[in-house]
Amino acid sequence: MSAKVWLVGAGPGDPELLTLKAVRALNEADVVLIDDLVNEAVLQHCPRARIIAVGKRGGCRSTPQAFIHRLMLRYARQGKCVVRLKGGDPCIFGRGGEEAQWLRERGVEVELVNGITAGLAGATQCDIPLTLRGVARGVTLVTAHTQDGSSLNWKALAQGGTTLVVYMGVAKLSEIREQLLLGGLAADTPVAMIENASLAHQRECRSDLSAMEEDARHFELKSPAILVIGAVAAATSLSCGSEPAGDEQTRAMG
Ligand code: SAH
Repeated sequence: MSAKVWLVGAGPGDPELLTLKAVRALNEADVVLIDDLVNEAVLQHCPRARIIAVGKRGGCRSTPQAFIHRLMLRYARQGKCVVRLKGGDPCIFGRGGEEAQWLRERGVEVELVNGITAGLAGATQCDIPLTLRGVARGVTLVTAHTQDGSSLNWKALAQGGTTLVVYMGVAKLSEIREQLLLGGLAADTPVAMIENASLAHQRECRSDLSAMEEDARHFELKSPAILVIGAVAAATSLSCGSEPAGDEQTRAMG
């Protein structure tokens, strides 16, 4: 049997946000390696699999990446159906790309299955449209955390005119605020901070760029959380901009 690993996104937490394809892969799995942020409720879909927790919550204080690679390879070479289950989408700040490349270089077939990434789910759960005609023409997903300590081009982000969705930002609120203000983003730009998106204990804190750090402190914002920064994150509902009604969609329908 040829070796194969499925790199599957488990979505942000709510088991109803799993894709049908993820459910099929889980159902066929012999071995499932799960990450920290995966809601264990999704494991109801893999009744016969051996479950291996490879995140901090599994008790193994952050399993080294090299060890995870070797585990996947070993089980795949034994002909087992291996699912590597990751929170959100496997390729959005999830190392899915790295793992797929490593496995393919060793002759293992890899199939990637999308999951709903936390940034999209968090915004939707809070009724925030990440793009909105006449208000936000795009969305940029960034992580505030880098392994090599390098910095983002905050000025470009501040001036890019897109909604910003920041992952892994809870410990970096001060830097994010300062850099975006320095970059020229208005102090009253709305910010939504969404903790445990899509889970029963989801919490949301609305603020603005200048107050976000202090508000997060009072709110006791904890990881995992995403930040949505931009006009669309206003607490009051927005009407879309003043573009003429004859947009593509209306024309296409007409
Ligand atoms: N691959 C994941 C992201 C992994 S990076 C995805 O696509 O969602 C880990 C970061 O994701 C966390 O620090 C947090 O910023 C965000 N995150 C993951 N799950 C979350 C959730 N349920 N609610 C809010 N943020 C979450």
